[in-house]
Amino acid sequence: MEKEPKAGIDVERIRQDFPILGTTMNGKPLVYLDNAATSQKPKRVIDAISEYYTSYNANIHRGIYAIAVEATDAYVDSKAKLAKLINAKGMQEIVYTRNTTEAINLVALSWGNANIKRGDHILITQMEHHSNLVPWMLLARRKNAVLDYVRLDESNTKLDMQSLKEQLEKDPKIMAVTHVSNVLGTINDVKRMTKEAHAHGAVVLVDGAQSAPHMPIDVQDIGCDFFALSAHKMLGPTGIGALYGRYDMLDRMDPLFSGGDMIKSVTFDDVTWNDLPWKFEAGTPDIAGGIGFGAAIDYLNGIGMERIRAHEKKITKYALERLEEVKHLKTYGPGKDEMDSRGGVIAFAIDKVHPHDVSQIFDSEGIAIRAGHHCAMPLVTQLLGESAVSRMSFYLYNRMQEADKAVQAIELVKKTFGVG
Ligand code: PMP
Repeated sequence: MEKEPKAGIDVERIRQDFPILGTTMNGKPLVYLDNAATSQKPKRVIDAISEYYTSYNANIHRGIYAIAVEATDAYVDSKAKLAKLINAKGMQEIVYTRNTTEAINLVALSWGNANIKRGDHILITQMEHHSNLVPWMLLARRKNAVLDYVRLDESNTKLDMQSLKEQLEKDPKIMAVTHVSNVLGTINDVKRMTKEAHAHGAVVLVDGAQSAPHMPIDVQDIGCDFFALSAHKMLGPTGIGALYGRYDMLDRMDPLFSGGDMIKSVTFDDVTWNDLPWKFEAGTPDIAGGIGFGAAIDYLNGIGMERIRAHEKKITKYALERLEEVKHLKTYGPGKDEMDSRGGVIAFAIDKVHPHDVSQIFDSEGIAIRAGHHCAMPLVTQLLGESAVSRMSFYLYNRMQEADKAVQAIELVKKTFGVG
Protein backbone atom coordinates (compact mmCIF):
# COMPACT_ATOMS: atom_id res chain seq x y z
CA MET A 1 0.00 0.00 0.00
CA GLU A 2 1.15 3.50 -0.75
CA LYS A 3 1.75 5.96 2.08
CA GLU A 4 -0.97 8.63 2.18
CA PRO A 5 0.25 12.16 2.90
CA LYS A 6 -1.48 14.00 5.75
CA ALA A 7 -2.47 17.12 3.84
CA GLY A 8 -3.72 17.52 0.28
CA ILE A 9 -2.49 20.10 -2.19
CA ASP A 10 -4.02 23.49 -2.87
CA VAL A 11 -4.82 23.21 -6.56
CA GLU A 12 -6.17 26.76 -6.87
CA ARG A 13 -3.00 28.15 -5.32
CA ILE A 14 -0.82 26.01 -7.59
CA ARG A 15 -2.73 27.13 -10.69
CA GLN A 16 -1.71 30.73 -10.00
CA ASP A 17 1.88 29.70 -10.70
CA PHE A 18 1.12 28.51 -14.24
CA PRO A 19 0.49 31.47 -16.58
CA ILE A 20 -0.97 29.30 -19.36
CA LEU A 21 -3.71 27.93 -17.10
CA GLY A 22 -5.31 31.37 -17.02
CA THR A 23 -5.62 31.51 -20.81
CA THR A 24 -8.36 30.40 -23.20
CA MET A 25 -8.43 28.01 -26.15
CA ASN A 26 -11.11 28.55 -28.79
CA GLY A 27 -12.69 31.15 -26.55
CA LYS A 28 -13.08 28.73 -23.60
CA PRO A 29 -10.95 28.55 -20.46
CA LEU A 30 -8.10 26.14 -21.21
CA VAL A 31 -8.56 22.69 -19.66
CA TYR A 32 -5.22 21.01 -20.11
CA LEU A 33 -5.54 17.23 -19.99
CA ASP A 34 -2.56 16.25 -22.12
CA ASN A 35 0.00 16.00 -19.37
CA ALA A 36 1.33 12.63 -20.45
CA ALA A 37 2.53 14.31 -23.66
CA THR A 38 4.08 17.29 -21.92
CA SER A 39 3.39 19.30 -18.78
CA GLN A 40 2.83 23.03 -18.42
CA LYS A 41 5.54 25.19 -16.85
CA PRO A 42 5.34 27.29 -13.69
CA LYS A 43 6.51 30.90 -13.85
CA ARG A 44 9.48 29.99 -11.69
CA VAL A 45 10.83 27.73 -14.46
CA ILE A 46 10.15 30.25 -17.22
CA ASP A 47 11.84 32.96 -15.14
CA ALA A 48 14.87 30.80 -14.33
CA ILE A 49 15.52 30.29 -18.05
CA SER A 50 14.96 33.92 -18.87
CA GLU A 51 17.18 35.05 -15.98
CA TYR A 52 20.03 32.86 -17.22
CA TYR A 53 19.90 34.41 -20.68
CA THR A 54 19.35 37.90 -19.28
CA SER A 55 21.93 38.07 -16.55
CA TYR A 56 24.52 35.26 -16.53
CA ASN A 57 24.61 33.67 -19.99
CA ALA A 58 28.01 32.04 -20.49
CA ASN A 59 29.32 28.65 -21.51
CA ILE A 60 29.94 26.26 -18.66
CA HIS A 61 33.11 24.52 -17.43
CA ARG A 62 35.51 26.57 -19.52
CA GLY A 63 35.46 30.04 -18.04
CA ILE A 64 36.82 31.34 -14.78
CA TYR A 65 35.02 34.68 -14.91
CA ALA A 66 32.09 35.26 -12.59
CA ILE A 67 29.12 34.62 -14.88
CA ALA A 68 30.71 31.45 -16.33
CA VAL A 69 31.15 30.16 -12.81
CA GLU A 70 27.58 31.12 -11.97
CA ALA A 71 26.23 29.31 -15.05
CA THR A 72 28.37 26.25 -14.32
CA ASP A 73 27.21 26.14 -10.70
CA ALA A 74 23.55 26.43 -11.67
CA TYR A 75 23.86 23.66 -14.28
CA VAL A 76 25.75 21.30 -11.97
CA ASP A 77 23.41 22.14 -9.13
CA SER A 78 20.42 21.00 -11.16
CA LYS A 79 22.03 17.57 -11.53
CA ALA A 80 22.56 17.39 -7.80
CA LYS A 81 18.88 18.26 -7.34
CA LEU A 82 17.81 15.53 -9.74
CA ALA A 83 20.14 13.02 -8.07
CA LYS A 84 18.48 13.83 -4.75
CA LEU A 85 14.96 13.70 -6.21
CA ILE A 86 15.39 10.15 -7.48
CA ASN A 87 17.86 9.10 -4.75
CA ALA A 88 20.87 8.51 -6.98
CA LYS A 89 24.13 8.38 -5.04
CA GLY A 90 25.33 11.63 -6.58
CA MET A 91 25.32 13.82 -9.65
CA GLN A 92 28.04 11.59 -11.19
CA GLU A 93 25.21 9.16 -11.88
CA ILE A 94 23.11 11.74 -13.77
CA VAL A 95 23.79 12.14 -17.49
CA TYR A 96 21.79 14.85 -19.21
CA THR A 97 20.34 13.91 -22.57
CA ARG A 98 17.75 15.58 -24.79
CA ASN A 99 14.93 13.42 -23.45
CA THR A 100 13.94 9.92 -22.35
CA THR A 101 14.28 8.67 -25.91
CA GLU A 102 17.90 9.75 -26.13
CA ALA A 103 18.66 8.32 -22.69
CA ILE A 104 17.37 4.89 -23.75
CA ASN A 105 19.20 5.07 -27.06
CA LEU A 106 22.40 5.91 -25.21
CA VAL A 107 22.15 2.62 -23.30
CA ALA A 108 21.06 0.60 -26.35
CA LEU A 109 23.97 1.96 -28.37
CA SER A 110 26.77 2.24 -25.82
CA TRP A 111 26.04 -0.60 -23.41
CA GLY A 112 24.17 -2.61 -26.05
CA ASN A 113 26.85 -2.51 -28.74
CA ALA A 114 29.48 -3.61 -26.24
CA ASN A 115 27.53 -6.32 -24.47
CA ILE A 116 24.98 -7.89 -26.81
CA LYS A 117 26.14 -10.77 -29.00
CA ARG A 118 24.55 -13.02 -31.61
CA GLY A 119 21.82 -15.16 -30.09
CA ASP A 120 21.54 -13.13 -26.86
CA HIS A 121 18.08 -12.32 -25.55
CA ILE A 122 16.82 -8.78 -24.92
CA LEU A 123 13.63 -8.52 -22.89
CA ILE A 124 11.06 -5.73 -23.03
CA THR A 125 7.27 -5.75 -22.55
CA GLN A 126 4.18 -5.46 -24.72
CA MET A 127 3.29 -2.10 -23.16
CA GLU A 128 6.37 -0.14 -24.18
CA HIS A 129 6.40 3.26 -25.81
CA HIS A 130 8.23 3.16 -29.17
CA SER A 131 11.12 4.89 -27.39
CA ASN A 132 11.68 1.79 -25.27
CA LEU A 133 10.96 -0.65 -28.08
CA VAL A 134 12.56 0.47 -31.34
CA PRO A 135 16.09 1.04 -29.90
CA TRP A 136 16.04 -2.59 -28.65
CA MET A 137 14.60 -3.89 -31.91
CA LEU A 138 17.41 -2.18 -33.81
CA LEU A 139 20.02 -3.48 -31.36
CA ALA A 140 18.65 -7.00 -31.81
CA ARG A 141 18.85 -6.59 -35.60
CA ARG A 142 22.40 -5.23 -35.50
CA LYS A 143 23.59 -8.10 -33.35
CA ASN A 144 21.40 -10.96 -34.54
CA ALA A 145 20.03 -11.10 -31.03
CA VAL A 146 16.48 -12.05 -30.03
CA LEU A 147 13.92 -9.52 -28.80
CA ASP A 148 11.38 -11.01 -26.38
CA TYR A 149 8.29 -9.49 -24.80
CA VAL A 150 6.67 -9.92 -21.41
CA ARG A 151 3.01 -10.43 -22.31
CA LEU A 152 0.04 -8.50 -20.96
CA ASP A 153 -2.43 -10.47 -18.84
CA GLU A 154 -5.78 -11.54 -20.25
CA SER A 155 -7.47 -8.28 -19.28
CA ASN A 156 -4.84 -6.30 -21.22
CA THR A 157 -4.30 -4.09 -18.19
CA LYS A 158 -1.19 -5.44 -16.48
CA LEU A 159 1.94 -7.42 -17.20
CA ASP A 160 1.58 -11.17 -16.79
CA MET A 161 4.04 -12.16 -14.07
CA GLN A 162 4.04 -15.78 -15.30
CA SER A 163 5.15 -14.52 -18.71
CA LEU A 164 7.93 -12.56 -16.99
CA LYS A 165 9.10 -15.75 -15.28
CA GLU A 166 9.09 -17.66 -18.56
CA GLN A 167 11.00 -14.97 -20.41
CA LEU A 168 13.57 -14.66 -17.65
CA GLU A 169 14.30 -18.38 -18.00
CA LYS A 170 16.01 -17.40 -21.27
CA ASP A 171 18.52 -15.38 -19.19
CA PRO A 172 18.21 -12.11 -21.13
CA LYS A 173 21.21 -9.81 -21.02
CA ILE A 174 18.99 -6.80 -20.41
CA MET A 175 15.39 -6.12 -19.42
CA ALA A 176 13.93 -2.71 -20.31
CA VAL A 177 10.52 -1.93 -18.87
CA THR A 178 8.32 1.10 -18.50
CA HIS A 179 7.51 2.17 -14.95
CA VAL A 180 4.10 3.57 -15.95
CA SER A 181 2.36 2.88 -19.27
CA ASN A 182 1.52 6.04 -21.22
CA VAL A 183 -1.59 4.31 -22.63
CA LEU A 184 -2.93 2.05 -19.88
CA GLY A 185 -1.74 4.09 -16.92
CA THR A 186 -0.54 0.83 -15.33
CA ILE A 187 2.17 1.21 -12.71
CA ASN A 188 4.48 -1.78 -13.03
CA ASP A 189 6.09 -3.30 -9.97
CA VAL A 190 9.55 -2.46 -11.24
CA LYS A 191 11.18 -3.22 -7.90
CA ARG A 192 9.98 -6.81 -7.99
CA MET A 193 10.71 -7.14 -11.71
CA THR A 194 14.24 -5.79 -11.21
CA LYS A 195 14.90 -8.26 -8.40
CA GLU A 196 13.73 -11.17 -10.55
CA ALA A 197 15.67 -9.98 -13.60
CA HIS A 198 18.85 -9.48 -11.55
CA ALA A 199 18.50 -13.02 -10.23
CA HIS A 200 18.88 -14.11 -13.86
CA GLY A 201 21.87 -11.84 -14.41
CA ALA A 202 20.05 -9.24 -16.54
CA VAL A 203 20.85 -5.56 -16.50
CA VAL A 204 17.67 -3.52 -15.89
CA LEU A 205 16.58 -0.24 -17.47
CA VAL A 206 13.41 1.47 -16.29
CA ASP A 207 11.65 3.96 -18.56
CA GLY A 208 10.54 6.56 -16.04
CA ALA A 209 9.07 9.10 -18.49
CA GLN A 210 5.59 8.66 -17.00
CA SER A 211 6.55 7.97 -13.38
CA ALA A 212 9.22 10.51 -12.42
CA PRO A 213 6.84 13.47 -12.90
CA HIS A 214 4.08 11.93 -10.82
CA MET A 215 5.36 9.98 -7.81
CA PRO A 216 8.33 9.64 -5.47
CA ILE A 217 11.17 7.76 -7.18
CA ASP A 218 13.95 5.92 -5.41
CA VAL A 219 16.29 4.30 -7.92
CA GLN A 220 18.24 2.57 -5.16
CA ASP A 221 15.10 1.06 -3.71
CA ILE A 222 13.98 -0.07 -7.19
CA GLY A 223 17.49 -1.43 -7.65
CA CYS A 224 17.59 -0.75 -11.40
CA ASP A 225 20.83 -0.13 -13.29
CA PHE A 226 19.41 2.62 -15.51
CA PHE A 227 16.45 4.98 -15.25
CA ALA A 228 15.39 7.38 -18.02
CA LEU A 229 13.23 10.51 -17.76
CA SER A 230 12.28 13.76 -19.55
CA ALA A 231 12.22 17.21 -17.93
CA HIS A 232 9.40 18.50 -20.12
CA LYS A 233 6.91 16.07 -18.58
CA MET A 234 7.82 17.23 -15.06
CA LEU A 235 7.34 21.00 -15.30
CA GLY A 236 10.74 21.56 -16.91
CA PRO A 237 11.67 22.74 -20.39
CA THR A 238 11.77 20.67 -23.57
CA GLY A 239 15.14 19.59 -24.89
CA ILE A 240 16.50 18.11 -21.68
CA GLY A 241 16.14 14.71 -20.09
CA ALA A 242 18.31 12.43 -18.03
CA LEU A 243 19.79 9.00 -17.82
CA TYR A 244 20.45 7.77 -14.32
CA GLY A 245 23.06 5.02 -14.44
CA ARG A 246 24.63 3.20 -11.52
CA TYR A 247 28.17 4.52 -11.21
CA ASP A 248 29.91 1.24 -11.97
CA MET A 249 27.71 0.68 -15.05
CA LEU A 250 28.38 4.14 -16.50
CA ASP A 251 32.04 3.86 -15.59
CA ARG A 252 32.42 0.72 -17.70
CA MET A 253 30.57 2.16 -20.70
CA ASP A 254 32.10 3.95 -23.67
CA PRO A 255 30.85 7.41 -24.56
CA LEU A 256 28.39 7.58 -27.43
CA PHE A 257 29.35 11.01 -28.73
CA SER A 258 32.80 12.52 -28.65
CA GLY A 259 34.26 15.99 -28.89
CA GLY A 260 34.52 18.87 -26.47
CA ASP A 261 33.85 18.60 -22.75
CA MET A 262 33.86 14.79 -22.59
CA ILE A 263 37.63 14.37 -22.62
CA LYS A 264 40.22 14.67 -19.91
CA SER A 265 43.23 14.86 -22.21
CA VAL A 266 43.99 14.42 -25.90
CA THR A 267 47.29 13.99 -27.70
CA PHE A 268 47.72 13.56 -31.44
CA ASP A 269 47.59 9.81 -30.78
CA ASP A 270 45.33 9.21 -27.83
CA VAL A 271 42.45 10.37 -25.68
CA THR A 272 41.24 9.78 -22.13
CA TRP A 273 37.65 10.34 -21.07
CA ASN A 274 36.45 12.93 -18.63
CA ASP A 275 35.01 11.91 -15.25
CA LEU A 276 31.37 10.91 -14.90
CA PRO A 277 28.91 12.21 -15.83
CA TRP A 278 30.72 14.54 -18.27
CA LYS A 279 32.10 11.59 -20.25
CA PHE A 280 28.65 11.25 -21.81
CA GLU A 281 28.00 14.93 -22.51
CA ALA A 282 29.90 15.95 -25.63
CA GLY A 283 29.78 19.58 -26.70
CA THR A 284 27.97 22.50 -25.14
CA PRO A 285 24.94 21.10 -23.34
CA ASP A 286 21.48 22.61 -22.94
CA ILE A 287 22.59 24.95 -20.16
CA ALA A 288 19.34 26.92 -20.00
CA GLY A 289 17.43 23.63 -20.04
CA GLY A 290 19.44 22.25 -17.12
CA ILE A 291 18.87 25.43 -15.14
CA GLY A 292 15.15 25.37 -15.95
CA PHE A 293 15.00 21.70 -14.94
CA GLY A 294 16.59 22.60 -11.60
CA ALA A 295 13.87 25.18 -11.02
CA ALA A 296 11.21 22.59 -11.92
CA ILE A 297 12.65 20.16 -9.37
CA ASP A 298 12.62 22.90 -6.72
CA TYR A 299 8.98 23.51 -7.53
CA LEU A 300 8.05 19.82 -7.35
CA ASN A 301 9.88 19.52 -4.02
CA GLY A 302 8.01 22.53 -2.71
CA ILE A 303 4.74 20.69 -3.30
CA GLY A 304 5.97 17.19 -2.48
CA MET A 305 5.88 14.15 -4.78
CA GLU A 306 3.74 12.12 -2.37
CA ARG A 307 1.12 14.83 -2.33
CA ILE A 308 1.20 15.14 -6.12
CA ARG A 309 0.68 11.39 -6.44
CA ALA A 310 -2.19 11.49 -3.92
CA HIS A 311 -3.92 14.29 -5.81
CA GLU A 312 -3.62 12.48 -9.13
CA LYS A 313 -4.95 9.29 -7.58
CA LYS A 314 -7.97 11.15 -6.29
CA ILE A 315 -8.79 12.92 -9.54
CA THR A 316 -8.16 9.80 -11.67
CA LYS A 317 -10.39 7.66 -9.45
CA TYR A 318 -13.08 10.31 -9.62
CA ALA A 319 -12.79 10.52 -13.42
CA LEU A 320 -12.98 6.72 -13.74
CA GLU A 321 -16.11 6.69 -11.56
CA ARG A 322 -17.72 9.37 -13.70
CA LEU A 323 -16.72 7.60 -16.92
CA GLU A 324 -18.23 4.36 -15.65
CA GLU A 325 -21.64 6.06 -15.80
CA VAL A 326 -21.20 6.89 -19.48
CA LYS A 327 -22.75 4.42 -21.90
CA HIS A 328 -21.03 3.39 -25.15
CA LEU A 329 -17.65 4.25 -23.71
CA LYS A 330 -14.73 2.00 -22.93
CA THR A 331 -11.74 2.86 -20.77
CA TYR A 332 -8.45 0.98 -20.74
CA GLY A 333 -6.04 0.03 -18.00
CA PRO A 334 -6.60 -0.90 -14.34
CA GLY A 335 -9.97 0.07 -12.87
CA LYS A 336 -10.98 2.58 -10.20
CA ASP A 337 -10.48 0.02 -7.43
CA GLU A 338 -6.88 -0.60 -8.40
CA MET A 339 -5.57 2.91 -7.89
CA ASP A 340 -2.33 1.73 -6.25
CA SER A 341 -1.32 0.28 -9.60
CA ARG A 342 -2.61 3.12 -11.73
CA GLY A 343 -1.31 6.54 -12.71
CA GLY A 344 -3.22 9.56 -14.01
CA VAL A 345 -3.59 8.47 -17.63
CA ILE A 346 -7.00 7.40 -18.95
CA ALA A 347 -7.25 6.09 -22.50
CA PHE A 348 -10.78 5.71 -23.79
CA ALA A 349 -12.86 4.98 -26.87
CA ILE A 350 -16.41 6.01 -27.73
CA ASP A 351 -18.34 3.52 -29.83
CA LYS A 352 -18.11 4.22 -33.55
CA VAL A 353 -16.48 7.66 -33.15
CA HIS A 354 -12.93 8.19 -34.36
CA PRO A 355 -10.63 9.54 -31.62
CA HIS A 356 -9.60 12.43 -33.87
CA ASP A 357 -13.24 13.55 -33.99
CA VAL A 358 -13.41 13.19 -30.20
CA SER A 359 -10.30 15.31 -29.83
CA GLN A 360 -11.66 17.96 -32.19
CA ILE A 361 -14.87 18.38 -30.21
CA PHE A 362 -12.88 18.55 -26.97
CA ASP A 363 -10.74 21.22 -28.64
CA SER A 364 -13.82 23.28 -29.47
CA GLU A 365 -14.68 23.12 -25.74
CA GLY A 366 -11.22 24.34 -24.77
CA ILE A 367 -10.09 20.89 -23.60
CA ALA A 368 -6.72 19.55 -24.70
CA ILE A 369 -6.56 15.76 -24.96
CA ARG A 370 -4.60 13.51 -27.30
CA ALA A 371 -5.77 11.01 -29.90
CA GLY A 372 -3.74 8.40 -31.72
CA HIS A 373 -1.61 5.36 -31.06
CA HIS A 374 0.39 7.32 -28.46
CA CYS A 375 3.68 5.93 -29.79
CA ALA A 376 2.66 2.49 -28.56
CA MET A 377 1.38 1.11 -31.84
CA PRO A 378 1.80 -2.62 -31.12
CA LEU A 379 -0.13 -2.25 -27.85
CA VAL A 380 -2.92 -0.08 -29.27
CA THR A 381 -3.40 -1.81 -32.61
CA GLN A 382 -2.44 -5.44 -31.92
CA LEU A 383 -3.62 -5.85 -28.33
CA LEU A 384 -6.36 -3.29 -27.77
CA GLY A 385 -7.53 -3.79 -31.37
CA GLU A 386 -7.93 -0.07 -32.06
CA SER A 387 -6.30 2.06 -34.76
CA ALA A 388 -6.25 4.90 -32.23
CA VAL A 389 -7.61 5.82 -28.79
CA SER A 390 -8.32 9.09 -26.99
CA ARG A 391 -6.36 9.88 -23.85
CA MET A 392 -6.81 12.33 -21.00
CA SER A 393 -4.03 12.65 -18.46
CA PHE A 394 -3.92 14.61 -15.20
CA TYR A 395 -1.31 16.49 -13.22
CA LEU A 396 -0.99 18.45 -10.01
CA TYR A 397 -2.81 21.53 -11.33
CA ASN A 398 -5.94 19.77 -12.60
CA ARG A 399 -9.20 20.47 -10.83
CA MET A 400 -11.83 17.83 -10.09
CA GLN A 401 -14.26 19.93 -12.18
CA GLU A 402 -12.00 19.40 -15.17
CA ALA A 403 -12.80 15.69 -15.04
CA ASP A 404 -16.49 16.72 -15.09
CA LYS A 405 -15.84 18.92 -18.11
CA ALA A 406 -14.26 15.96 -19.90
CA VAL A 407 -17.36 13.86 -19.19
CA GLN A 408 -19.61 16.67 -20.49
CA ALA A 409 -17.49 16.87 -23.65
CA ILE A 410 -17.90 13.12 -24.15
CA GLU A 411 -21.67 13.54 -23.93
CA LEU A 412 -21.40 16.30 -26.54
CA VAL A 413 -19.41 13.98 -28.82
CA LYS A 414 -22.07 11.29 -28.46
CA LYS A 415 -24.85 13.76 -29.20
CA THR A 416 -23.00 15.16 -32.22
CA PHE A 417 -22.41 11.70 -33.69
CA GLY A 418 -25.76 10.27 -32.67
CA VAL A 419 -24.27 7.59 -30.39
CA GLY A 420 -26.76 5.81 -28.11
N1 PMP B 1 8.43 6.50 -22.64
C1 PMP B 1 7.17 6.77 -22.28
C2 PMP B 1 6.44 5.79 -21.41
C3 PMP B 1 6.56 7.94 -22.70
O1 PMP B 1 5.31 8.20 -22.35
C4 PMP B 1 7.28 8.85 -23.50
C5 PMP B 1 6.67 10.15 -23.99
N2 PMP B 1 5.37 10.04 -24.47
C6 PMP B 1 8.60 8.51 -23.84
C7 PMP B 1 9.13 7.34 -23.39
C8 PMP B 1 9.42 9.41 -24.70
O2 PMP B 1 9.64 10.62 -24.09
P1 PMP B 1 10.38 11.79 -24.89
O3 PMP B 1 9.54 12.05 -26.10
O4 PMP B 1 10.41 12.93 -23.95
O5 PMP B 1 11.71 11.26 -25.25
